Amino acid sequence: MSHEPRPNYLWSMLTMKCPRCRRGKLFKNYSPYNLKHTLDMQETCPVCGQPTELEPGFYYGTGYVSYALAVALIVAWWVAWWVLIGISAEDNRVFWCLGLCIAFLFLIQPWLMRLSRVIYLWFFVSYDDDYEHNPVKRYVSGSKETRPHSH
Ligand SMILES: [Zn+2]
Repeated sequence: MSHEPRPNYLWSMLTMKCPRCRRGKLFKNYSPYNLKHTLDMQETCPVCGQPTELEPGFYYGTGYVSYALAVALIVAWWVAWWVLIGISAEDNRVFWCLGLCIAFLFLIQPWLMRLSRVIYLWFFVSYDDDYEHNPVKRYVSGSKETRPHSH
């Protein structure tokens, strides 16, 4: 039996695919700009059955991820502007830079919120070559089955 080629890491992540099979879609709607449903995720991956919420409140930590992403984008924006357009005290180019940067971040915010969830999930779940046959791993810490009896 030959394995199918492993889908590209970064591309699968950017297209919001499941980290375990890199094929199933994590979000129910294609567009993140349907704002009422931006964060509607599949409960489990439609392809391999990987749960998308590893434990209750799993995604509370994603605020830090989206914060880091936003900072990285702001830095990249300013560097790109500085290289391509330049910044001068003689005119108001720097205000255009700032204003457009804010508009840009605002526009991509729904997409950024999704991406930070995906990155967060990818951090905990790794690719499984044989995702069709292997059982889904459980990541829930302190679950009832494994916790020893306490007194
Ligand atoms: Zn999957």
